[in-house]
Amino acid sequence: MTESQLLKQARAVCLENGARFTPVREQVFSFLAAAPGAVGAYDLLNQLQAVDAKAKPPTIYRALDFLIEQGFVHKVESQNAYVLCSHFSKQHKAQLLICDSCGFVKEIDNKTIHQALLEAADNNGFEIQKQTVEVHGLCSNCQSAAADQ
Ligand SMILES: [Zn+2]
Ligand SMILES: [Zn+2]
Repeated sequence: MTESQLLKQARAVCLENGARFTPVREQVFSFLAAAPGAVGAYDLLNQLQAVDAKAKPPTIYRALDFLIEQGFVHKVESQNAYVLCSHFSKQHKAQLLICDSCGFVKEIDNKTIHQALLEAADNNGFEIQKQTVEVHGLCSNCQSAAADQ
C-alpha cells in the first residue's frame, strides 16, 4: 500500500470508531508510513517541528498513544521506537523481525507462535497482558550486502 492509501484507510477506520484523526496525528502517521523501519519519538518530533515549530515532546507522545490505541502503530520496545502497522486491527498480536543493520522492520502475524506463547504462559500459571515478539537479525538485503564484501 502507498502512503496515501494507508492514510485513507486509517481515516476510514477512525471515522468508523468515532476517533478524532487530528492534523497532528495524521502528520505523525504519515511520517511513520514513509519510514522503512521503526522511528524514535525524537526523530518524529524533529520531523514535526519542520512543519510546526511549536510542537513539543508531549505532542508526539499523545499522537503516538492515539495511533497505538487505534492499532495503527506498534511500539518496538527493544529499540524504543515506533513502527506503522498496516493490519488496521486492534486485536492482532504481532511478531516483529528487526534488522539490526538497516533498521528495517517486518511484521508477521503468525497465529501458531501466538498460540504457543499463550499455552506456554498458561502452563506456567502466567497471564499475558500484552505481547509483541521482537526478533533481531539481518534482513535479506543486508545479508546479501554482507556476502558481497
Ligand atoms: Zn500490527
Ligand atoms: Zn537490513
